[in-house]
Amino acid sequence: MQSINQKIEFPFSSNCTVYIKREDLIHPIVSGNKFRKLKYNILQAKGENQTKLLTFGGAFSNHIAAVAYAAKKNGFQSIGIIRGDELEYKVNENPTLSFARNCGMQFEFVSREIYRKKSEPDFIENLKEKHGDFYLIPEGGTNELAIKGCQEILNEDDNAFDYICCSVGTGGTISGIINSTSEHQKVLGFPALKSDFLKDEICKFAKNNRWDLISDYHFEGYGKINDELVAFINTFYKQTKIPLDSIYTGKMLYGVFDLIKKGFFPVNSNILVIHTGGIQGNQGMNIKLKNKNLPLIQYHD
Ligand SMILES: *Cc1c(COP(=O)(O)O)cnc(C)c1O
Repeated sequence: MQSINQKIEFPFSSNCTVYIKREDLIHPIVSGNKFRKLKYNILQAKGENQTKLLTFGGAFSNHIAAVAYAAKKNGFQSIGIIRGDELEYKVNENPTLSFARNCGMQFEFVSREIYRKKSEPDFIENLKEKHGDFYLIPEGGTNELAIKGCQEILNEDDNAFDYICCSVGTGGTISGIINSTSEHQKVLGFPALKSDFLKDEICKFAKNNRWDLISDYHFEGYGKINDELVAFINTFYKQTKIPLDSIYTGKMLYGVFDLIKKGFFPVNSNILVIHTGGIQGNQGMNIKLKNKNLPLIQYHD
């Protein structure tokens, strides 16, 4: 599957050409990189004759929504280990978890303290005793098969670009992109969170060093936003009709246009930004913003 590249007509882009790869249009819920990351994992689980997928995630996780939907579509049961035991009684108020439950996902809510142990062998063993055998997909979905899927984001025509920009969470998506670039290209990753380990994570999977991380646009941390970011997302939507999410793609595009403004890119650079999706998360974010009486994210008419 190939997504279209759309030219962005936006102020400041005058001395560079910016295109956006619309991976967000793959599916309204299982959009962008989460679809890519699951593709080969689903094939692997089928090959192993597994019947259950189990994974981990937070309250508004794009990954949880994607796994729940992919499980339903491919005839798997699914189990979501969800961070925050207070959420158990709030599923109805949470659009992401409601969607996942409607897809048939079973939840186990755990405290933040227990959630931190999610990669420990004892914890996984415990889950097997409770739920029976399952195919495990890590938090955020990053593993070797996910990277194989993300290597399919770029295609031959994308060789025309000098820079590829994408948002970074766990580092799986950017690793796949890095592995499918050509000699003359450079990949810039914009972390959506503060992390000292991201570089090491990417080094585990990346097969060349044509990449860098730009860590100035995480807006103080994962899921943290401010008025300026919301205003940017809304202006961008008004001018281009392209919706962004506030956790990943909004921060990345804010960064790209800020760098263009500051002259970071050589004049006449051809830049491709990857729209990794995540629009489902706006619903939950807007509920939070509304409760605080703050301006909402605009992402549809
Ligand atoms: C999960 C996600 C990312 C980050 O992907 P990683 O592979 O974890 O780095 C970026 N954008 C969106 C919309 C996502 O949902």
